[in-house]
Amino acid sequence: MTNKQKDNIIDPGQKPGDGLDYALRPKYLQDMVGQEQIRENIEILISAAQHREEALDHVMFYGPPGLGKTTLAHVLANEMDVNIKVTAGPAIERAGDLAAILTNLRAGDILFVDEIHRLGRAVEEVLYPAMEDYALDIIIGKGPSARSVRLKLPRFTVVGATTRLALVTAPLRARFGAVYRLEYYSLDAMEQIIQQAATKLSVSADQEGVREIALRARGTPRVALRLLRRVRDYAQVRADGVITTKIAQQALELLNIDAQGLDNMDRRVLQAITIKFSGGPVGLKTIAASIGEDPDTIMDVVEPYLLQMGFLQRTSQGRVATRQAYVHLGLEPPKNLSQPRLIP
Ligand code: ADP
Repeated sequence: MTNKQKDNIIDPGQKPGDGLDYALRPKYLQDMVGQEQIRENIEILISAAQHREEALDHVMFYGPPGLGKTTLAHVLANEMDVNIKVTAGPAIERAGDLAAILTNLRAGDILFVDEIHRLGRAVEEVLYPAMEDYALDIIIGKGPSARSVRLKLPRFTVVGATTRLALVTAPLRARFGAVYRLEYYSLDAMEQIIQQAATKLSVSADQEGVREIALRARGTPRVALRLLRRVRDYAQVRADGVITTKIAQQALELLNIDAQGLDNMDRRVLQAITIKFSGGPVGLKTIAASIGEDPDTIMDVVEPYLLQMGFLQRTSQGRVATRQAYVHLGLEPPKNLSQPRLIP
């Protein structure tokens, strides 16, 4: 296995193509674990819409990949008992593509737009009146004889998802009635998610084995499910199929995932900052170039978790490694490691 493949195991942005994700996806709010605050807010949103017999307000979910944004969009559709049409920002290239999607929606339908921050300008311009007035402005003809015709659309709901809220333009953001941030899951929640998935996949795992996977799944359900599958494979090939602490530890070690859930890519980022750039501050692009990785992957996948774990700090001059990072890498922290000025 190459380093790249190993890295991918923990990259929650990489979606598995085996359909298992779909099978394990919670269908209703009550099946979902964690994200209590969002669940409660959504319950209210749904009841209110049902009470008024209206379409749901437009909703946006943001946060790192693999935390459940797509799942929540499907849960909303199931709870409201409406159709969901799934698309993504980069898939809608021209305004006409969006117009075709919008004119095919029925009243109450949900349009799920993943990576909504990647919508083009012209496409966004079409989306504004569609979200606000449920109308589509179409230009007929060319030149001086061109005229605009307004088509009425059924009342539908846009559910947007993004890993980068900062890149969503202000006018688009303003058109969402509710914006929710998904948080990393607690250890308890992760254990529950892994246990549930193990039961669904008919994998036997003891409580400690489940905990071992949960500890290294970086608070992200998609990573947890992927690790569970790999550990299951290991347990079947190298043992009697039961996931115990020892089996989980051996399997995860083989995948190069350490006790804190860091993989090769995380460690390479930390090593670059601590060793090559003497602890920082250093810019994200410089880090990415120095280890030959894509800056977007570092920003979306690696950095949020390192920040959350306290291995990294973001300052006005760039990224800085913390004392904990040095300790974790088995390096001697520099004597003058001062507390940097954080971005508020
Ligand atoms: P995102 O859209 O944020 O990248 P997904 O919604 O695709 O993430 O979630 C990834 C996988 O994690 C899903 O297939 C689902 O099985 C699982 N998952 C996500 N959130 C939960 C949750 N709250 N409870 C149980 N499983 C979850």
